[in-house]
Amino acid sequence: MSLLDLIFPPRCGGCGAYGASWCGRCAERVRSLPPGTVAGIPLITVGPLEGPLQRAIHVYKYRPRPQLATALAGCLEAAVRNSGIRIAVLTFVPLHPARQRERGFNQAERLARRLGLMLELPVLAGLRRVRPTPAQVGLGEAERRANMIGAFCWSATQRPPEGLALVDDVCTTGATLEAAAEAVGRAGGSIGAFLALARAQTLPALAVTLPGQSGCP
Ligand SMILES: [Zn+2]
Repeated sequence: MSLLDLIFPPRCGGCGAYGASWCGRCAERVRSLPPGTVAGIPLITVGPLEGPLQRAIHVYKYRPRPQLATALAGCLEAAVRNSGIRIAVLTFVPLHPARQRERGFNQAERLARRLGLMLELPVLAGLRRVRPTPAQVGLGEAERRANMIGAFCWSATQRPPEGLALVDDVCTTGATLEAAAEAVGRAGGSIGAFLALARAQTLPALAVTLPGQSGCP
């Protein structure tokens, strides 16, 4: 048992049971989804935004515990490996600095950093929020898209590479991912895959069938 486990006894983010940050029972309840697509780009997720996975993501965002971040990143690692998709460099959806100060961390960055360690891939920080965007909750798809147009730019001196994998916690309509991909494209790079813990089920399926199933280890 680590010192961290003594200070914060592991508790499942999905069901609240003590013993592990993400228990086997909750992992079993996650339905694996075939890869989806957003703006023609493959979207790999652990599962749909429902049940224990949805609760665990909420806990991760609003009551962050380091062990839960690692457990969720492990689920996403398994989904990426099972998808067979090839990735060379990761990047992440940024928060507006004011929002990040308020929350204390960027949930997408934390996820990307852990995933980078697990997949042994570099994480390139380059996207920046140009303006704060109002909360997306309760908005329809068209409103979300309008909300996100021009929300990002690529601010790193290094040009973004081709085929970057963009990490976010949740994909709802894909408006955020699409706007971020557009900013990467404007800077001369491209996004090859979107990686998120969960997605709303309304997105179209990927036309190309990739081998394997997503899911938690
Ligand atoms: Zn559980």
